[in-house]
Amino acid sequence: MDLKKCRDCGVAKELAQFWKMQAAPDGLSYYCIDCAAERNRRGKENRARRQEKTYTPQGRRRVLAEGEKWCPKCERALPRSEFGSNRSSRDGLTAYCRPCHNRIGRENRERNHGGTRHYHLKRRYGIGADDAERMLAEQGGVCLICHRELGVENMHVDHSHTTGEVRGILCFNCNGGLGQFKDDHERMLRAITYLDARMRPSLARRGAVSCRCSLTAVPGRERVRRLCGDHAPAHTVVRPQLIGWGSAKPHRRREAE
Ligand SMILES: [Zn+2]
Ligand SMILES: [Zn+2]
Ligand SMILES: [Zn+2]
Ligand SMILES: [Zn+2]
Ligand SMILES: [Zn+2]
Repeated sequence: MDLKKCRDCGVAKELAQFWKMQAAPDGLSYYCIDCAAERNRRGKENRARRQEKTYTPQGRRRVLAEGEKWCPKCERALPRSEFGSNRSSRDGLTAYCRPCHNRIGRENRERNHGGTRHYHLKRRYGIGADDAERMLAEQGGVCLICHRELGVENMHVDHSHTTGEVRGILCFNCNGGLGQFKDDHERMLRAITYLDARMRPSLARRGAVSCRCSLTAVPGRERVRRLCGDHAPAHTVVRPQLIGWGSAKPHRRREAE
């Protein structure tokens, strides 16, 4: 019977005591089954120890107990249950413990929208919060597209994704609308043509009247004027029920031109 000597324990054993290993010259593992199992176990232990080390800050020798994880923020070893789950991380947990994780998220949100909003705007659009507010005041405090009144809390700095330049201040919906149409002039014109064509018959049936800006009013209780709130002289406007094409909301009247 053929025997093979194990490189680890040095014992000559039957060939059946070695796992098959294609890469080896004789097609069998260098180590016997027992030694291979032992190597396997040691390898697993080493990997686990290496992982634990990555969770402790540099210079710390603290070995984590079973089921513990190190929070590098509050620098404490905590039970794994103190961490949130994160499917994309190696151990399936968030990097920081729950309280630290939540606090960091809150701080980031405040940095973006709260006191240092100014720096956020500066970094993103090259204009500060004061510039943005001045722009809004210069355009009459309203969204340049829907004419809704805007405040600091709901204004959106509209910028070109091609040139990066700031175009104006819009509301969330109108800013998003431009993006949905990819800022594409042709698409938007086709959308207007489409709405006009599809809506004209039903609006005509309902006795709709269009202003020269193509804003259309459908008579309700009030008599409809031929010009919208933006284009009629202020003294002639008696809050007609004006609606845009397909819009359910009444058109907001602006101050006199
Ligand atoms: Zn062996
Ligand atoms: Zn923590
Ligand atoms: Zn708007
Ligand atoms: Zn953008
Ligand atoms: Zn008009």
